[in-house]
Amino acid sequence: MRPYIDVHCHIGSTVSRSPSVGQSVGRYMARMASAGVTAAILSPTAGGPQAHGVRDTRRQNEEVARACQAFPDRFPLGLAGVEVRHEGAGVDELRRAMMDDGLVGFMCHPALSGHSLGAELHPFLEVVAEGSGLCLLHQAGSTANIAAYARRFPTIIFIIGHVSMNRQTHDDAIRQCADIANVWYDIAQKPTPDEPEWGLPHLLGGLAADRVMFGSDAPYYDFRLVQRLVEDADIDHTAKDGIAHGAATRLIRSLLPEWEPPTGALHPPQRYTDDEMWAARGPRLL
Ligand SMILES: [Zn+2]
Repeated sequence: MRPYIDVHCHIGSTVSRSPSVGQSVGRYMARMASAGVTAAILSPTAGGPQAHGVRDTRRQNEEVARACQAFPDRFPLGLAGVEVRHEGAGVDELRRAMMDDGLVGFMCHPALSGHSLGAELHPFLEVVAEGSGLCLLHQAGSTANIAAYARRFPTIIFIIGHVSMNRQTHDDAIRQCADIANVWYDIAQKPTPDEPEWGLPHLLGGLAADRVMFGSDAPYYDFRLVQRLVEDADIDHTAKDGIAHGAATRLIRSLLPEWEPPTGALHPPQRYTDDEMWAARGPRLL
């Protein structure tokens, strides 16, 4: 299979759902190695431990930063997490994570971290804009808010997380975001629909095809299903390479020009059984 670069994955645990779900860096590396994913942009999990508030968020951010520092070829970029309830303290932590730890922006998840993708994120986005960084945003009903951010903060690169999980989000993203140059998209959790109106070729036709990227949404989803969708799609090899790794390589190099995609074998620090990596209920990893 062609190499895949993952622009959407999470390290840590989501404890605000039952049962909790999560992955360590090592377990994710095992999943990468077993599925042909050669590199990734790391994010923390949303819904992580919050018993100690922003100090817990800092611990999550530091875990991402440590992985990026330990494996810079595999994890060239890392993102911080933000919780709307942390307000100014959260903005300070984001600035610290970017300046001290080398993270390049943030990931946020509206449902799990209290955001509406409105003005409450402007102070966080200003910090990222100062460094011309990157934000991975999960949608809050519509992508209209992300389009508004992208116009307001033109120096930030935005990734819309899982842009085509269903027909509604697929159509909405095409309507709102197709022509905005600093909006990129990932296809995490995209199913293979029976209707061609929201199949992968239609998505490539509706959005800027050279900004559509693979995302795993690990540890929540059996992302091999999305790789299979790409491999089986009725599109040419160049388009498949673009989704699998071409667009992501371009995005990463726009922030880190010296980075080269790794070509050697990936050796995870621990051997995991197939069941430990891929036990699932439907497409949902356990
Ligand atoms: Zn996600």
